[in-house]
Order: sequence, then C-alpha cells, then structure tokens
Amino acid sequence: MRSCKLPSGAEMPVLGLGTWRMGETGRRRAEELDALKYGLDLGYPMIDTAEMYGEGGAEEIVGDALAGRSIRPFIVSKVYPHNASRAGTIAACERSLKRMRLDRIDLYLLHWRGGAPIEETFEAFYKLRNAGKIGDFGVSNFDLDDMEDAAGLDKGLTGTNQVLYCLSRRGPEFDLLPWMRKRSIPLMAYSPLDQGELLRKAPLRKIADEVGCTPAQLALAWLFAQPGVVTIPKSSTRERVKENFAALDVKLPPKILADLDRAFPPPRTKQPLEML
Ligand code: NDP
Repeated sequence: MRSCKLPSGAEMPVLGLGTWRMGETGRRRAEELDALKYGLDLGYPMIDTAEMYGEGGAEEIVGDALAGRSIRPFIVSKVYPHNASRAGTIAACERSLKRMRLDRIDLYLLHWRGGAPIEETFEAFYKLRNAGKIGDFGVSNFDLDDMEDAAGLDKGLTGTNQVLYCLSRRGPEFDLLPWMRKRSIPLMAYSPLDQGELLRKAPLRKIADEVGCTPAQLALAWLFAQPGVVTIPKSSTRERVKENFAALDVKLPPKILADLDRAFPPPRTKQPLEML
C-alpha cells in the first residue's frame, strides 16, 4: 500500500475507511460492522473515526472490527472542540481508547477549531504523545489562517489536516494545499465522493466509462493522483468497500486528468474552506 510521510517521519497510508454515520442506530450496526471487517480483510490499512460519530458508537464498532486481529490498521480519531481543553482532551482520548479497546491511537485530530485555545489542545496532544497514547496529532477543518496559527505555536503539529476535498470541491488547491505541501504536511481528504453527490455528475460518469472504471473509482483515483493527499471514503456495503479499494489500481493518464480539469476546474481565487 502506498503511503505519505507525516511531519514526524511516520508513514500514513493513502487510503482508509471512513466511519461517519456509523454507530448511530442499532438497526444498521451488523451491516456497518460487516463492512469494516470486510474492508480490513481486503487490506484497507487505515480507519478514520471520531468521538462525535454516533456519540462513541462508531468507535465501538471499530473496536469490534479490530477484535482478534493480528494486523492492526492505522487508527485516526478526533476530539470534539468542546472537549479540547488541556484536561478534557486527555479524558476524551482515554474514552476513545477504551471504546476501541486500544492502547494507542496513531493519529489524533482536533475535529474543528472552536472550543479551547489551540495552545491548550496541542499541549494535551503533546502529553498524550509522550505517554505513548497517541502516535501523532493534527487538526481538521483548518483553513490557511488556522494552519498559520498552528504553525506559530512552540509545539507544532506532527500529523495532518483533514479537510473537505474532492473533484467537485477543489477550493483547497488555491492556497491551503500548496502551503501544506511546502511544509510536507499531507492533506487527508474527507467526503471524497461528496457523500455520493459527485457520483451523479454526468461528466464524471462519461469520463469513468472512457477509463473503464466506476465513477467512485475515478473520483478516488483522481485524489490518489494528487501528491501529498490521502483519503477515507465511507461505505456500509461490501460491494462498495471492494469497489473503492480497487480504485488504487486505476491509473489516470495525463489526457484524462486534463479532461477532469475541464469538467471540474481548479479554483482561480481564494475560496473559504468548506466544511460538512
Ligand atoms: P463519502 O464521500 O465517503 O461518501 C459516503 C457516501 O457515499 C455514503 O452514502 C455511501 O453509501 C456512498 N458510497 C460509498 N462508496 C460508494 C460507491 N462506490 N458508489 C456509490 N456510493 C458510494 O462521505 P463521508 O462524509 O462519509 O466522508 C468520508 C469520511 O470522512 C467519513 O466517513 C468520516 O470518517 C470523514 N469525515 C470527516 C469530517 C470532518 O469534519 N473531519 C466530515 C465528514 C467526513 P453506503 O454507506 O450506503 O455505501
């Protein structure tokens, strides 16, 4: 599996399983657990979750999916801003670890900026890192000005910035992504299929036919073609988990990348970071 280097030097896989909307109702639990286990069996090397998803329900499903496995994927989770104080971050991390029955989260992110001052959150992240409870730490939904604030702190982030980025939402390419690339901070693209919306767009479907892949595979393969970008599509069905994994094998020649640029043009001006 291809990977990206984090600022700490650790490797982060380019593809993982998203878990938003999992663990919200008991009705779909078996299906969600099955999809995650199936994904891990296929070889997905990373899972993205958060204490917010299903208010802990998604992390519990991740714990069940991991139970009894000898190979553990790279685990990403996130702290709510309202829990992100000095003491609150540590307590939230302990709860996440317990729900997933793990002793370490590989990459722990501030879900969005808003609660405690980021200095406090980062101090707590440092403590957790020194205690071995997290590997690296980062942020999510940070636009360029937020990243500049984070970079100005004594204890700079060692991980990633997870943001909304896909073919139909290319805003980060104008300034955020180049800024991150310059500092060797990979971007983790969430909602790579725009939650399914992107797949209904006629130009994507047409170009996918030409390439000989599905629209979802084309959307993911385009992200893999962007240097310093990793992504985490979510599906609760086996067929789609498999389909998305196979996007790793889809190679996009320059002509197809140019067609995609015409159909989904890159930004020409600054666009405030969108957030779901
Ligand atoms: P995605 O872009 O991954 O799309 C998920 C939706 O697309 C689901 O409805 C899924 O349905 C459907 N889908 C998945 N694969 C296919 C396919 N091959 N063909 C057709 N439909 C498909 O959206 P998400 O918002 O879930 O983003 C991915 C992950 O990113 C989240 O799960 C979460 O982990 C993270 N995230 C982080 C945020 C943040 O603020 N940091 C915000 C949003 C997401 P089904 O399940 O029925 O297959």
